[in-house]
Amino acid sequence: MDHIVLTGDRPTGPLHLGHYFGSLANRVALQHAHPMYVLVADYQVITDRDLPGAIQANITGLLLDYLAVGLDPAKVTIFQHSAVPELNQLLLPFLSLVSVAELRRNPTVKDEIAHSSQRAVSGLMFTYPVHQAADVLFCKGTLVPVGKDQLPHLEVTRMVARRFNERYGPVFPLPEAMLGDSPLLRGLDGGKMSKSRGNAISLSATEDETAALIRRARTDSDRLITFDEAARPEVATLLTLAGLCLGRTPQDVAAEIGDGGAVTLKKVVTEAVNEFLRPIRARRAELTEADVRAVLRAGNERARERAVVTLEEVRDAMGF
Ligand code: ATP
Ligand code: MG
Repeated sequence: MDHIVLTGDRPTGPLHLGHYFGSLANRVALQHAHPMYVLVADYQVITDRDLPGAIQANITGLLLDYLAVGLDPAKVTIFQHSAVPELNQLLLPFLSLVSVAELRRNPTVKDEIAHSSQRAVSGLMFTYPVHQAADVLFCKGTLVPVGKDQLPHLEVTRMVARRFNERYGPVFPLPEAMLGDSPLLRGLDGGKMSKSRGNAISLSATEDETAALIRRARTDSDRLITFDEAARPEVATLLTLAGLCLGRTPQDVAAEIGDGGAVTLKKVVTEAVNEFLRPIRARRAELTEADVRAVLRAGNERARERAVVTLEEVRDAMGF
């Protein structure tokens, strides 16, 4: 099947290993085979906080992360919400296709409300999964490389596409999710590794920062290192990290450490992560802010051309 790939990230902070193994690795692999759009979801920053914060710096950082892991701007259209008004306008007809009860039921939204720093939950928090439907459907995306937290949102996108087609005629494909090698990578505190939760190893961390983060991670006092997610979640998280970076199973890494205890475990993890990040750090060091601006400008233009066509089609189908 000839896919069109769409994914994206919120510019809320530096991308981390969870992003890499959850989604970025798939994007890098897919960019050669299919047209791909990568969204800097700037309008969605304000779903769970009152202010966009250091938005420009975060957007620049996100672009640097993309280019450093190997996304090729000649192949991939990298763009931002706020530069493509026609995409955002799709939210209007799309919102008419879902019920308030359906929006309330979304388990990822519930989890995000629990971790939100807002004093009151905003309307955007409930409607952003429909905004994501606009993200995917503006380019008629068919394949969406994401982490596990995004699966309920992809269901919303499919529902919106299906209902639009039933009501107004066939306009949209029904996109599929593509999960990475690690659909839910845990952070150093045992919860979902997340930019906003202070538990992440970012792709831009230095060797020393990486070592310090791993040194502070919790473990237990059993010297024999085993991979047991239920009984020893902290140790399992570290073994998983090392395994992903080394391209080996966590059980295999545990067997090699044997009775070396937490000290050996942390040493192995630190070396594995730093080795893995070395080429990414090197590519990043060669990029300038001017490179980033040029990539985004070109991507925004291409995405907008696409969005204008889809919005026109939507208006026609609806009889406006
Ligand atoms: P924030 O805390 O600001 O929401 P985030 O770390 O959740 O940040 P997003 O920008 O919301 O990152 O998500 C971008 C993409 O990365 C999504 O496809 C998401 O599923 C994936 N992703 C994020 N964290 C992880 C993780 N720990 N494991 C696997 N995939 C992840
Ligand atoms: Mg998130």
